[in-house]
Amino acid sequence: MTEPAPTRRHFLTATALAAAGTTLGAAALTACAANDQGAKSNTTQTPAAAAPAGGGGPAVEPPVTTGEQALERLQEGNARFVSDQAGHDDEGTERRVAVSQAQHPFATVLGCVDSRVPIELVFDRGLGDLVVVRSAGEVLDHSVTGSLEFGVAELGTPLLLVLGHQRCGAVDATIKALDAEGDISYLVKALQPAVQQAAGRPGDRLTNAIHANVELVLAQLRKSAVIGPLEKSGKLKLAGAYYELDTGKVIIS
Ligand SMILES: [Zn+2]
Repeated sequence: MTEPAPTRRHFLTATALAAAGTTLGAAALTACAANDQGAKSNTTQTPAAAAPAGGGGPAVEPPVTTGEQALERLQEGNARFVSDQAGHDDEGTERRVAVSQAQHPFATVLGCVDSRVPIELVFDRGLGDLVVVRSAGEVLDHSVTGSLEFGVAELGTPLLLVLGHQRCGAVDATIKALDAEGDISYLVKALQPAVQQAAGRPGDRLTNAIHANVELVLAQLRKSAVIGPLEKSGKLKLAGAYYELDTGKVIIS
């Protein structure tokens, strides 16, 4: 990976364009300015590589520099969560102080607002580890996409993960609304393509729609002027995943 400056400029430009006339641009610029203070002290390394503990935890953790490594780290954390071995290493005072001046998260994760899928808990990560964006059914809008762009471009995480989950109520409500031909709310409208794409696939209708939604969200994110080029350059890995409520397992697509 190279220095984050070029992608940062792209991010600011794209965000300003996408958020013209809204408060998002101002919020993003404020956030960028705040991050500059931390970044100035470490301009020769990539954000992920600059972190002493590679995005968190005890000093035994090697730095995360690639999307594959970030994915492995998330899977390791999920394995601890599933087996009731969660370490909660990045949640104490030591970690809070360590990341108080600058942050170097190693993954950006888009998940659902479902109360049973708290991202940091599912992956056993703590302060300064993950950029987490949540919306019902992982539905994208300018704010959600802009926040994800901030994570990958400004904070330089080498991984962007879209995490769907079992029995997603937002997708289920969309199926029911479409079947009833009732009012089409914003969420239903946004999730409708996933339900339609999954139509006819063998197996459970809701589960299929949830998987299709993750695929479609990833496809939409690849169209972002910030995210698409980052992936093409090899600096960013995009991945989809499915969280099983029954087992706690995250299954990478
Ligand atoms: Zn959900």
